[in-house]
Amino acid sequence: MNGPVFENTLKQSRAFALVDKDMRLGLGHAYMVVSPDDDTVRDFFTLVAATVFCTTHRACMECAECHKVLTGNHPDVFNVNTAGEKIKVGEIKDMISSVSIKSLTGRKIYFVHRADLMTADAQNKLLKTLEEPPEGVTIFLGVANESGLLDTVKSRCRKVYMDIFDRETVYDALIALNCDGESAAIAAACCEGQLGKARRIAFSHEYTEYYSDALSLLENLKKSPDVLPVSGTQSLKKNPGDFLKILTVAVRDLLSAKMGNPLFFDGETSARINRISETFSVRALALTVGLINEAQEKLFYGVNAAAVTDSLLFSVLEVKHKWQS
Ligand SMILES: [Zn+2]
Repeated sequence: MNGPVFENTLKQSRAFALVDKDMRLGLGHAYMVVSPDDDTVRDFFTLVAATVFCTTHRACMECAECHKVLTGNHPDVFNVNTAGEKIKVGEIKDMISSVSIKSLTGRKIYFVHRADLMTADAQNKLLKTLEEPPEGVTIFLGVANESGLLDTVKSRCRKVYMDIFDRETVYDALIALNCDGESAAIAAACCEGQLGKARRIAFSHEYTEYYSDALSLLENLKKSPDVLPVSGTQSLKKNPGDFLKILTVAVRDLLSAKMGNPLFFDGETSARINRISETFSVRALALTVGLINEAQEKLFYGVNAAAVTDSLLFSVLEVKHKWQS
């Protein structure tokens, strides 16, 4: 039986350690699990439910209780708003009447997905139940955006902030999913520490292409006449916003190579990164990261993309020549 996608990584997370400790000492009434990464919150909820009901309390993913949780058939596990849409007061009323029904096992767990999408009415309706649910009931709110919740709701919940996973942890987690090394390395660098986002990036392969294009760009940018052909790079034209994100990753990797830090890539790409890094000084690379940030900001404010990228490329060339050592 397959458990949550990132079961092992989540079992090592600080967020899980916090809830796991409470499970041993006695779960509280209400928690809010905060993360912009819905997929990870979903995985986390499954892991929590399996841990609570597992016959070994270790989320073995093999016993009959874990099996019921994983197939969505556990009678004491309730998921509200799995679609992650706006939650109206009617849905919360239904949930509250279900909460008051006694369970056979003496424990019931409710997971409200994207609870930050509850209307104010729905949140007000839930307040009393959050504060004083019937014995044995615990409510978990999945929250992508804390500002969507009323202070009165927030103050009744124990806050659990999902970890922002480091690049190495994400890389290992993706490799464990049989992702290829290159896609894993790129996804781990671009996912902002979010496992679900990393998985989407790693298996779309679009970013792998962007990364390779980013290296080519840095490789071919030698003189002013190179700017025009380089600015025609397909992925840069197609999606300048994402491309600049990946370009930052590539430049940071060149910096790592210069500093002698280990790279996440295997043979060929690693050799390529090392080769390109020799054509830039550390200072030029550091300044390039700043220039890309500025360009991203301009894009964000709606400045014409072609103008932004052309000016970026000229500026990169300038720092490359100005700071040769
Ligand atoms: Zn089990």
